[in-house]
Amino acid sequence: MTYDVIVIGAGLGGLGAAARLARAGRSVLILEAGPHSGGTSHVFHRSGFGFPMGPLSCSHPRRVRAFLKSIEADQGLTFRRNHFQVTAPGLDIIISHPFHRLGDDLAAAFPDEKGIQGLMTDLSALTARAARALDRGRGAQRGAGPDEKPESRPPVSTDPWMSQAARIPCEGWLRKRIGHPGLVNLIGSMSSDPPHMSLLNLGVMWNLMSRVGIWTPSEGIQSLGERMASAFLRAGGEIRISTGAEKILIGPDGVEGVRTGGGETLRSRWVISNVDYKTTFLDLVESARIPKGFRQAVADVPYTGSELCVYLGVDPARVDWNRMRSVHLLYQSRIPDPSRKPDPLNFSARQIEICRWSDNAPGLTPPGMASLVLRVGLPYRLFSEFRTGFRKRVPEYRARKAELAGTLIRAAEEILPGLESAVRVREAATPLTYADWGRRRLGSIAGWTWGAKPRDELTGPLLVATPVPRLLCAGIYAASDLFLGGVPTALHTAEAAAGMVAAKNGTS
Ligand SMILES: Cc1cc2nc3c(=O)[nH]c(=O)nc-3n(C[C@H](O)[C@H](O)[C@H](O)COP(=O)(O)OP(=O)(O)OC[C@H]3O[C@@H](n4cnc5c(N)ncnc54)[C@H](O)[C@@H]3O)c2cc1C
Repeated sequence: MTYDVIVIGAGLGGLGAAARLARAGRSVLILEAGPHSGGTSHVFHRSGFGFPMGPLSCSHPRRVRAFLKSIEADQGLTFRRNHFQVTAPGLDIIISHPFHRLGDDLAAAFPDEKGIQGLMTDLSALTARAARALDRGRGAQRGAGPDEKPESRPPVSTDPWMSQAARIPCEGWLRKRIGHPGLVNLIGSMSSDPPHMSLLNLGVMWNLMSRVGIWTPSEGIQSLGERMASAFLRAGGEIRISTGAEKILIGPDGVEGVRTGGGETLRSRWVISNVDYKTTFLDLVESARIPKGFRQAVADVPYTGSELCVYLGVDPARVDWNRMRSVHLLYQSRIPDPSRKPDPLNFSARQIEICRWSDNAPGLTPPGMASLVLRVGLPYRLFSEFRTGFRKRVPEYRARKAELAGTLIRAAEEILPGLESAVRVREAATPLTYADWGRRRLGSIAGWTWGAKPRDELTGPLLVATPVPRLLCAGIYAASDLFLGGVPTALHTAEAAAGMVAAKNGTS
C-alpha cells in the first residue's frame, strides 16, 4: 500500500498535521519512535504524582482552542492564566502584568533610572510591530511549492523589517533607552544574564509575556496531545508506536516513503517530519538529496540549549510559600561577580525557575500534596561524557545527577524555607534525558536559537516547505522563531503542512 502521507513523530506538530489530513480523507500513517503519542507534551508518573516531560504551559489559548475545534477535539477545554514573578537581589516583581503596571513596578525597583516609561512605550510598540510582522510573515511559505525545484522557493520572509530584526541583537536597542545594566539584563534576558535575544524575539517574547499571557489547559498540558490523538484515530488514521523512522526515502522526483528502524520500507506520496529539523536533514535525509548551502545552514545555526530539571512531590504544609506569589517564580539569590568567569553549576548565582506544577495540574497530584518543577538552563556538553548510547549512561551518571538535583533543591530552599524536608518524591532530568525523550539534538528545549540569526537561509519564520519535493516539516523546529510560543507554533506549522498537502491534492 502507498499512503498519502507518512508523518514521522507524534508530537503536537505531527499529530496536528495528521489529524487535519485524516479528517480531510487522506490515508495517514504516523510513525512514533517513543512509547506514547504526544511527544514532549506528555506526563510521566512517580508514586502517584504526574510530572511534565516538557511544556508546563502555553501561550495563545484561543489559537490552541481554535485548532482543536477544527478537528472537533475542543469539547470542555478551558485554560487558566499563569503569572511570572522575578525575585532577585533588590527586585521582586510580577513581569507578566500589562506594560503600564510593569513600568510602575520597575520604576519603584530602579528609582534612579529615568528611561523606564519611555522604554515601556517603545517596548509596547516593538511587541505590536513584531506581532503584526509575524502575522503577515506566518503565511510566507503558504504559497511555496513543495513540488517545485529548490531553486524556485520564494524568499522566506515577506517583511524586510522582520528579516532584519531577526538578525539584530537586542542589546544596543535596550542600551539606547536605559542605562542601568541590571535593567538592561532583566528586559533583555529576564535574568541577570546579558541580553541574548534578537530584536525580533525581544518583541515576540514580551508580546507573549505581557499581552497574550501564558496559560495552561485546566486538564493539564498532556490533554492537548491526548485529544489530538483521539481525533486522529476517530478519523481513521493509523499510528505505530515504538516504530522509529531511520531514513526518508527520496527518489529523483522527491519523497517516496520511509524506512523504519526495523528495516521495513513504507511507501507514501508525502512525508511530514515532526522530528527536529537538524536530525531530519543531517540524519534522516541523504546529504546528496539536499543543496549543500542549505545543509550547511542547518548545521551552522544553533538550537536553544537544554536544562536540568528536578520534579518534586512535596508536603505543602512543611513549606513556607510566603515569597512565592505566582505559579512561576524566576528566582536568583545572588548576582554573579562580573569580573569572574560565570560558573553554570553555581545555581545560587543563576536564575532558577520554580513552577508550582500542582496549581496547573491538580488532577495529577495526590490529595493534600503539592508538586514543584525546578529548572535551570545547562548545556548538553556538561553531560555528554556520561552518555554511552540511547538511554545508556556510565555508572557515575546517577550520582552526578543526584548531586546536581540536591544542589538545585538547596538553591530553591533559600526562597522556599522547609522545602528539603518537605520532599516526598524526587526525580530529575538532564540534557541527556531530553535528548532521549523528545529525540531532539543535544536535548534542545525551545526551537532554534533566540539570538540573532547568523544566516539568512533560516530566518523566516516558517520552515515547513523544504528543498525536497513533498517533504514537509511540522513542530517547533519548523519555524525559525517561536513567534507564537512553543505549543501554538507547533500547531501553526501543523496547519501549514496539512494545508500544503491538501492544496496540492486539490482540496483546501
Ligand atoms: C523540557 C521542555 C520544556 C518545554 N516547555 C515548554 C513550555 O513551557 N511551553 C511551550 O509552549 N513549549 C515548551 N516546550 C516545547 C514543546 O516541546 C513544544 O512546544 C511542543 O511539545 C511541541 O512539540 P513538537 O510537535 O515540536 O514535537 P515534540 O514534542 O518534540 O515531538 C516530536 C516527536 O517525534 C518523535 N521522533 C523523533 N525522532 C523520531 C524518529 N526518527 N522516528 C519516529 N518518531 C520520532 C519523538 O519521539 C517525539 O514524540 C518545552 C520542551 C521541553 C523539552
